[in-house]
Amino acid sequence: MKISACAFLILFCFQFGYGQSKWEGNTSPNYEELIAHLKAVSKENPEVELYEMGPSDYGLPIYLCVINGERDSLKTFDKAKKETTILINNAIHPGEPDGINACLIWLERWIKNGKQTDNLPVIAFIPAYNVGGMMNRSSTSRANQNGPEEYGFRGNSRNLDLNRDFIKMDSENAFTFCKIFHALNPDIFVDNHVSNGADYQYVLTYISQMKERMAPSLRKLVYGNLLPSITKELRTKKLDLFPYVELKGETPNEGIAAFNDLPRYAMGYASLFNSISFTVETHMLKPFPDRVKATYEFMDELINWTKINRKVIELSRRKADLWVQDQKLFRFNYQLSEEKDSINFKGFEHAFPEHEITGLKRLFYDRTKPYERMIPHFNKYVNRDSILIPQFYVVGGQEKEVINRLKVNNVFFKTIQTDSTILVTAFFAKNYKSPEKPYEGHFKHSELSFELKEISYSLKPGDILIPTKQKSANFIHSVIQPSAEDSYFSWNFFDSYLQEKEYFSNYVFVDKIAEILESNPQLKNEYIERKKNDESFRNSEWEQLYFIYSKSKYFEPSFMRLPIFQVLNRK
Ligand SMILES: [Zn+2]
Repeated sequence: MKISACAFLILFCFQFGYGQSKWEGNTSPNYEELIAHLKAVSKENPEVELYEMGPSDYGLPIYLCVINGERDSLKTFDKAKKETTILINNAIHPGEPDGINACLIWLERWIKNGKQTDNLPVIAFIPAYNVGGMMNRSSTSRANQNGPEEYGFRGNSRNLDLNRDFIKMDSENAFTFCKIFHALNPDIFVDNHVSNGADYQYVLTYISQMKERMAPSLRKLVYGNLLPSITKELRTKKLDLFPYVELKGETPNEGIAAFNDLPRYAMGYASLFNSISFTVETHMLKPFPDRVKATYEFMDELINWTKINRKVIELSRRKADLWVQDQKLFRFNYQLSEEKDSINFKGFEHAFPEHEITGLKRLFYDRTKPYERMIPHFNKYVNRDSILIPQFYVVGGQEKEVINRLKVNNVFFKTIQTDSTILVTAFFAKNYKSPEKPYEGHFKHSELSFELKEISYSLKPGDILIPTKQKSANFIHSVIQPSAEDSYFSWNFFDSYLQEKEYFSNYVFVDKIAEILESNPQLKNEYIERKKNDESFRNSEWEQLYFIYSKSKYFEPSFMRLPIFQVLNRK
């Protein structure tokens, strides 16, 4: 009788989910279920605050759930800014919803365990960032993924990948994120994902900030303390923590590379403001409940580590904020170095058997043959460019889209009220390449080069003057310096300056060239030389006239000149 009673109890518990959270199964809530659940939790537990933070492109709001706040919106955000705060972002790619479930489980256990707040940082999580993608559910858009039963879509309602949108900010979601991010000023930021790519034994891999871009105090804290500590702690829970498997070749045998967390990505964006940032990538082939558990454990360990290290986190961030303002050079265009280290890797043997349908060799990972061996680790980046940091930047007041983005990113600037003339360095676009097909709604420019010229510039009311000695300095350089990887120039904000507005009629201008050439002997010599050596030039009236026109007073001086300038330190 005893045995059958026990069996009944087990069955009962299994049926009704006692002892186990309903978020630990193979399902993930949709947007309505998720928000309804959090509303109910926050109603029952005043320690859990739920805020509507702003719109998404879809129309429905983006929420923020805050634990260990002050139960008052003003005081809560004030506390977050002043004290240690962790921000966790979920479902930027709603096909990868592991973080949603992990946060719900964490919240459930925290409540069940008596809502302990001893040394607890402020914990804020965005339950679902890509609302439009959450509303577009299916069981098929992640062809290679092992659960959950149903999930959302990667693109948002405008088909944007929001994890490329943090600088260009095409989506309303990005503006809402900015508001959340700067209202909290998080010390630690985590963006939860599920990976594609090679097969290996790890359930969870992480991307941490590119070392070379970090302030020394934060680099030391993350690579010397945080990562070794939580790797060790997670091992006691039988979870191996490993860096994201960014392949150098076709398989892990050729090595893995550190990830270049450009500002367009959530974690790259957060890094610009000296937040300690991670992207969590669980492995697509591992079952959803295992992935959720791993995401939970990583988050829980990060929270535990933060509890113990609050003082050193605050101190290291303050040092980093000063460090960015002390820099003489801004380094950018980072490239992976060929220099490599080794790393112990737990993979699966692979082979290339012939496939019966394609008749071609296919890559096959053999899960019955796990291995552990050293593989090459390319974890060093070198900056290809750098600039001397100016004292100020000037942005033309007509660039409202840019100025608005600077404003919502907490950039301090002064708006010019009266006309005056100053000496500035102007950027003239020399070379740039635009792709044939759009990338995230843009024909993003690359291979950028500029000619820098000192000019006298007439400041007008509405122009803005941005001092570079401020906490947001890294963000400012990254978007304003036109040759930086994710500059506003590269994202097409200044394309209208890349086109001439006026031309000439050949039959009129041809009568002016004698006078122009006579008044400019150097130009005359260049013209004669070119005519002598260049056959197409010799045979084209247009080419000859344009050559003279482009070097005459009639040519528009603002052609290719960007509406941004720098003022160097003249000490
Ligand atoms: Zn993702």
